[in-house]
Amino acid sequence: AKDAGRNTARFFNPTMQKAIESRMALESALRQALLKGELQLFYQPQIDQHGHCFGAEALLRWRRPDRGLVSPMEFIPLAEETGLILPIGQWVMDTACAQLKAWESDERTRSLRMAVNVSARQFHQPDFVAQVQASLERSGANPRRLKLELTESVVLENAEQVVSRMNQLKALGVSFSMDDFGTGYSSLSYLKLLPLDQLKIDKSFVRDIATDPSDAAIVRAILAMSQSLGLEVIAEGVETEEQRRFLCENGCHVFQGYLLGRPRPIEEWAASAEQ
Ligand code: C2E
Ligand code: CA
Ligand code: CA
Ligand code: CA
Repeated sequence: AKDAGRNTARFFNPTMQKAIESRMALESALRQALLKGELQLFYQPQIDQHGHCFGAEALLRWRRPDRGLVSPMEFIPLAEETGLILPIGQWVMDTACAQLKAWESDERTRSLRMAVNVSARQFHQPDFVAQVQASLERSGANPRRLKLELTESVVLENAEQVVSRMNQLKALGVSFSMDDFGTGYSSLSYLKLLPLDQLKIDKSFVRDIATDPSDAAIVRAILAMSQSLGLEVIAEGVETEEQRRFLCENGCHVFQGYLLGRPRPIEEWAASAEQ
């Protein structure tokens, strides 16, 4: 026991101690964030080839008092590990559905669609389908205007169950997009397996599309493939006119990125969408 104690002490150095403490502090602050109303959704416009905004992706932000806006990259991984992503994901779904319903009451926003990110842990909850259905019913939002963005990590386990859940949600009218498409290991096999409606070309391919021949080739291949499979394609991370033009010329007509509009809180968003 003495040896074990000494070993623990040796491995458990001050740096690790600090890391563990700051992780625990982050976890407890995140747990409180939901209760204190510090979480917020930003909305980023999705634009067609005519420059018309047809929808938005809901992106989570944490407004920490004294620290400002925290990016989801800094807390989603921890939320996933600790299971906090479950109540947070539920809050995101409720809030996004309520916003979708609110858009219905203004003719300028009536036809907008909402894309919501769903993490693997959330999707694999036994009552996930019922939760989405409950959010839709509570809000009164039209399921045909709701799109769920899944990443490949969702499909890594129990693909049959994933397909069956997707089909249950599709029966309600909900549609699906494969996020970060092309970055995983077996993207192609999922295309055959999953009842997807849309592929979202990852921003890592879009970034150098106009200068890197392999990125250009990959994007062209994704576009050709999705066309023959009858899938809609959207490109994310579109920052320059050059990227937009390349995508357009190669058959991608739906865009998301700083060129078209940054993620914004709803108050600012409504104003920018009217322009
Ligand atoms: P994602 O789903 O791939 O979202 C796209 C990210 O790209 C967003 O980062 C967005 O702000 C950013 N982005 C948009 N346009 C551009 C552009 O032109 N250039 C560049 N470089 N980036 C752009 P964000 O908002 O920081 O979100 C990061 C990730 O956090 C998301 O990646 C998603 O995986 C996750 N996330 C965000 N909100 C939620 C949520 O409600 N639930 C879950 N489970 N995950 C979320
Ligand atoms: Ca996404
Ligand atoms: Ca993405
Ligand atoms: Ca991503």
